[in-house]
Amino acid sequence: MEKRRIEHLLGGERRICITGHVRPDGDCVGSCLGLRSYLLTLDATLKVDVFLEPAPAPFALLTGFDGIRTYQQEDGEYDLCFVLDAGERGRLGANAACLDHAGRIVCIDHHRTQRSFVPECIVEPEASATCELLFDLMDEEKINLETAECLYLGIAHDTGVFRHSNVTRHTMEAAGVLIGKGVRHSKIVNDTFFSKTYLQNQLLGRALVESIVFCEGQCIVSMVSLKTMEFYRATHEDLEGIVDQLRLTRGVEVAIFISETEFQVYKVSLRSNEKVDVSRVAEYFGGGGHLRAAGCTMTGTFYDVVNNLSEQIAPQLGM
Ligand code: AMP
Ligand code: MN
Ligand code: MN
Repeated sequence: MEKRRIEHLLGGERRICITGHVRPDGDCVGSCLGLRSYLLTLDATLKVDVFLEPAPAPFALLTGFDGIRTYQQEDGEYDLCFVLDAGERGRLGANAACLDHAGRIVCIDHHRTQRSFVPECIVEPEASATCELLFDLMDEEKINLETAECLYLGIAHDTGVFRHSNVTRHTMEAAGVLIGKGVRHSKIVNDTFFSKTYLQNQLLGRALVESIVFCEGQCIVSMVSLKTMEFYRATHEDLEGIVDQLRLTRGVEVAIFISETEFQVYKVSLRSNEKVDVSRVAEYFGGGGHLRAAGCTMTGTFYDVVNNLSEQIAPQLGM
């Protein structure tokens, strides 16, 4: 069987837009910019625009970062829209508007909770990252350095720099090919993943100090309130990575990090180590994600949220 390719998805469309989920992470930005770069390699005369919420500043080392913007009515019509790294329309925020101005929509994603919300969906839950799936859909020969750096960044971020259980032999082979293209792999992971601002480290420290364990030490939770966020003038970006540090607590199976986004409205991040399917927990509360990393939005007091989560997690821990 002939390999599926991006080239085969195209039907002569000339105006193409690309969008992804709210609070764009490394895989979201990497996949959108990587696909943009690849499409321009296929045909430099195409119009290719990337619509995302503002992305973390360190991702500026990727080509095309400066062109990222939010879709506006004035942007008008597109022949084709690619939706990347998002399982449902609700995850696109304000940029969902560009779907209503596109002749055709193609979704490429790796979330196991993907809702196939558009007719043309390419979903591969086994792929560690949307960037890994995109790599498979690209002709290796046509992946230039700019495209390779985008894909490498996305794979590195969604695998926690090749540590998570979503890493497969194929993930490493794809990363190997990209390194062969000359990507600045060490700079990419250091500058965009490990490096933290002073504020990020302060918030991390606070979250660790204030964390609570429950379910006989198998769960850990920490919360940052709106008041704290305002005090530090922090944004959600400043909280990136906290849940991953909580997950490393010895004996812990499930780590939960909760950040208040509006009064008694919380963004909940879930991670597990070996047993618990956190995508099921997140999905129960209207969110989604992967086996070992998922998220949802919840409301109420902090204690309500923890109680409700605990009721869904405990049975999976055999409690
Ligand atoms: P995060 O905890 O924000 O790093 O997200 C972990 C994973 O869960 C990512 O793959 C997200 O795309 C997914 N996710 C996070 N929040 C939501 C949500 N509210 N709805 C659906 N998926 C989510
Ligand atoms: Mn993502
Ligand atoms: Mn992803």
